[in-house]
Amino acid sequence: MSAAPKFTEEKLLSIKPWAPNLFSFRMTRASGFTFVPGQFARLGVTRADPDNPKNPSGKKVVWRAYSVASPSNTEFLEFFSIVIPGGEFSPELARMRVGQPLYLERTNYGFLTLDRFEAARDLWMLCTGTGLAPFLSILGETNTWSRYQNLVVVHSVRYPNELAYADAIRAMSAKGDARLHYIPVVTRRKRAGFLDERVPALLDEGALEDRVGMQIDAASSRVLICGNPEMITATRRLLAARGLNPSRRGKPGQLAVENYW
Ligand code: NAP
Repeated sequence: MSAAPKFTEEKLLSIKPWAPNLFSFRMTRASGFTFVPGQFARLGVTRADPDNPKNPSGKKVVWRAYSVASPSNTEFLEFFSIVIPGGEFSPELARMRVGQPLYLERTNYGFLTLDRFEAARDLWMLCTGTGLAPFLSILGETNTWSRYQNLVVVHSVRYPNELAYADAIRAMSAKGDARLHYIPVVTRRKRAGFLDERVPALLDEGALEDRVGMQIDAASSRVLICGNPEMITATRRLLAARGLNPSRRGKPGQLAVENYW
């Protein structure tokens, strides 16, 4: 008896461009594929592998990790991607047409999930760029809205046109019991009403908490951080100084992070 393959073949269902270097896409979801919001999947695309004597097919499958942006109960899977110029995967993906095949590893990955935390009043979700994706999935779950009184999404991007999903997030404000605070941050263009410093600086100066009208502390806050690894390191350091730490075995923490590269 041969073992089941580690992946399933799926199809691209739709592509939504946000900016020249940013897009979202939906694909079919194998019925057995489960995940916890905040986790990521591994996706494969076929690309040309010319002039490789060891590979006469002239093609190969390239794999990358992508946080799931859709909630756990949808028939499709949605992802949010940046196009990395010269990359092996994302330019290939951005060129794909609806109906073309994509591969989905059967296993889910990652620990950016709410089950790592004990109950608290506020959930802070701090991200840069496409690091927003797991928070969209988390916000799509009814449980998230019943578990916290306040949900804070801080999305830091370079330019205003990179504020993907802004309308969808604002439209969520009416959903569920929790109060949603959406704080877009645009760092390379001044815009009235928008914060324009990097997340660690905003935290350090207190500007972020002033804008939201709440403090981050170990008793009332749980914090998820996702995206640029340097942002994560600096933010973690600031939060550690306030007594917020990652969960350890037998000792639930207040912090969970996912580095994007
Ligand atoms: P980014 O450089 O991560 O910037 C997004 C936001 O994060 C901006 O507001 C930026 O502020 C801020 N930021 C940058 N460095 C920071 C730091 N050290 N501390 C705090 N905040 C910081 O830009 P991006 O457009 O999302 O991604 C750019 C590049 O990241 C891509 O071209 C690619 O190389 C890489 N990337 C890789 C992957 C991957 O491999 N999976 C995924 C996404 C992105 P400033 O405007 O002040 O810099």
